[in-house]
Amino acid sequence: MPRRPAAALATSGEVLRLIRTGEAVTRADIGRVTGLSRPAVSLRVTELLDRGLVVENSEGPSTGGRPPARLAFNASGGVVLVASLGASRTQIAVCDLAGAELARTDLGIDVEEGPDVVLPLVMRTWSDLLGDRPASLVRGVGLGVPATVEFAARRTESARIMASWTGVAIPPIIEESFPVPVFLDNDVNVIAIGEHRAIYAGEADDLLFIKVSTRIGSGVIAGGEILRGALGAAGEIGHIPVRHGGGVLCRCGNTDCLDSVASGTALLKTLRARGHEVKTLADVVALVRAGDAETMTVIRDAARMLGEVVASAVNLLNPAVVVLGGDVAETFQPLVSGVREVVYRRSTALSTRNLRIERSRLGPAAGITGCAHMVLDHILSPEAIDSPH
Ligand SMILES: [Zn+2]
Repeated sequence: MPRRPAAALATSGEVLRLIRTGEAVTRADIGRVTGLSRPAVSLRVTELLDRGLVVENSEGPSTGGRPPARLAFNASGGVVLVASLGASRTQIAVCDLAGAELARTDLGIDVEEGPDVVLPLVMRTWSDLLGDRPASLVRGVGLGVPATVEFAARRTESARIMASWTGVAIPPIIEESFPVPVFLDNDVNVIAIGEHRAIYAGEADDLLFIKVSTRIGSGVIAGGEILRGALGAAGEIGHIPVRHGGGVLCRCGNTDCLDSVASGTALLKTLRARGHEVKTLADVVALVRAGDAETMTVIRDAARMLGEVVASAVNLLNPAVVVLGGDVAETFQPLVSGVREVVYRRSTALSTRNLRIERSRLGPAAGITGCAHMVLDHILSPEAIDSPH
């Protein structure tokens, strides 16, 4: 960000940013960095202390006399409520203002029951998880949902699961019980944010996260920020067609979309069509362990088609790292090696020179971490701090 004249913008929100990032942790530092007068610094610091966003202690490095009081961001000055709703698992948590989990429950909700059933259950679970903490401590809510989200309108667009989630404006429903800012994004975007913040932030800020699970989706982190596109539909990698897909009709109406030929659902369908009695991924794992050659061929074919699309995405985006997550990618190592092989063969030399292709390290926890950061990035931004609603 270009440096603007500091004094002109050194609001309380900006002072909080300096304290959170560690750029200035004493009143004297803040004065030096911002050019604010001592009374002006004091005014802003007092406001942040009163709002519970910073704490002050006098354990600074001693220089002989009384050490200067040090200011620190108060991560326990509030909580955010988060939920990562997935087609197969849902995690609900209360996190502090640094994004650390304070309490969490994993529920086997069937999200296909629709928002009328699922949202009240999620809100009751938040109340339970809050326990004795007063509701006034809640500063924001974040949800990841298995649907495309029109981010600015905070509304689900096309649901990847069932029609009951299509076109639902979720925030007003939540705001009735928790009158705080509510943020919503699709499940893969929040997982991408979580994986990036927890594992790669500052080291690899251009990251492509591919979730291979019941469905295939992706989240793009560009320059450290999630790339949502004009309306929030960026990253729908599952509906890019592949060559030699066999003419499979996708539920979107096109043929040979990646999702319809290489997702967990597609693997099961293909194996069933070839006479295997497979109900879940665990059945596929059993076939792989038993050395079933046909199953291995099906997985290799899926890897080839996934690799083909990932190679194009790599050419377009030039990420530093491609992370493969979701239970299919986490279960089948040959799928990951297959993708790697195709990408290195088919992407341009420059885009693969330092490219890493790795399996998700955060695993299922990424959704909760990502939801928390999505909320915190907004509610702790200088703009939000300076205009409390
Ligand atoms: Zn499709």
